[in-house]
Amino acid sequence: MIVVMRPDATEPQVAHVTNLIREMGLKDHPIVGTDLTVVAVVGDERKVDGGVLERAPGVDKVMKVLAPYKMAAKTDHESTTQIEVGTGGGCVFGGTQVPVIAGPCSVEGEKEILVAAEAVKAAGAHALRGGAFKPRTTPYACQGHGEDGRKMLAAARDATGLPIVTEVLTPSDVALVSKYADCLQIGTRNSQNFKLLEACGDQPKPVLMKRGMSMTLDEYLQAAEYILAAGNGNVILCERGIRTFEDHTRNTLSLSVVPELHERTHLPIVIDPSHGTGKAHLVPAMAKAAIAAGCDGLAIEMHVDPEHAMTDGAQSITPAVLTELMEQLARIAVAVDRSCEPLSRTVSA
Ligand code: PEP
Ligand code: MN
Repeated sequence: MIVVMRPDATEPQVAHVTNLIREMGLKDHPIVGTDLTVVAVVGDERKVDGGVLERAPGVDKVMKVLAPYKMAAKTDHESTTQIEVGTGGGCVFGGTQVPVIAGPCSVEGEKEILVAAEAVKAAGAHALRGGAFKPRTTPYACQGHGEDGRKMLAAARDATGLPIVTEVLTPSDVALVSKYADCLQIGTRNSQNFKLLEACGDQPKPVLMKRGMSMTLDEYLQAAEYILAAGNGNVILCERGIRTFEDHTRNTLSLSVVPELHERTHLPIVIDPSHGTGKAHLVPAMAKAAIAAGCDGLAIEMHVDPEHAMTDGAQSITPAVLTELMEQLARIAVAVDRSCEPLSRTVSA
């Protein structure tokens, strides 16, 4: 942190600032220039309230130097952290491979999720998604199948071998979801539910953490830090669009976060073009653009009968579209030195 004094700051004012810094357990290093004095603060500034210094007499401004997140920061990491979902090497985020998670918004029934899982597998995607507990804007909409839904997902995994990704809504459900799922999803509405983040940090399965719909990247990485600091290093970030004035899409999918986050953090970044656009016909183009932009994975809603989907049918692509998209993604990935081979091809190769 750098404390910049006003040009007319007096010596006692500078001394007061250096005292405050020492009281905070940090070291001060005043630099007296020709026009003004600045005080460099040496030590971990993250635990310090910079506002106290900003309000001190004679202070012009306080500039933070360190990112407010420590474990999520790129510092010292030469490359993106690789995180495997499931076992067997078929779905690793953060390496050369760009895995695709696909499946319905909600787990609708035992038969429905099985049919969807078979379609996801046939298309060549690498993991199955489906919400058992749904975070709905209105309490009157379907809230999901809950624990039964997780059992249906587990059955679909057993039948297809695809690892499963599903959302957890409350800290009290974390242990149960962790038992069934290969990856826990934290939804956009819960991305600053710090107790839930901590609970997900206190279990071993990877966490797919969506960005809050009105979160800055700094806030997002600080939220991810909660999971990391609680002991779980397997955090996969997921951009799913933010709220803007734009109304031609459900959310605004900000693809520039991909290269930006790669500069700030070592955590892999997944793009969700389904919630990011809310429109099925926009999903393939945004999925392709996301791979070109350097994302480490995709999360795509697919439904065998989107018109009759329980939730999010308008943004769900069909198995046929997913199958064609997987072929296109494979070609785009090669152009940016990545790989997005359909799973069947990877397995038989
Ligand atoms: C979902 O993945 O179906 C979901 C509810 O996503 P989000 O939290 O991004 O709205
Ligand atoms: Mn959805």
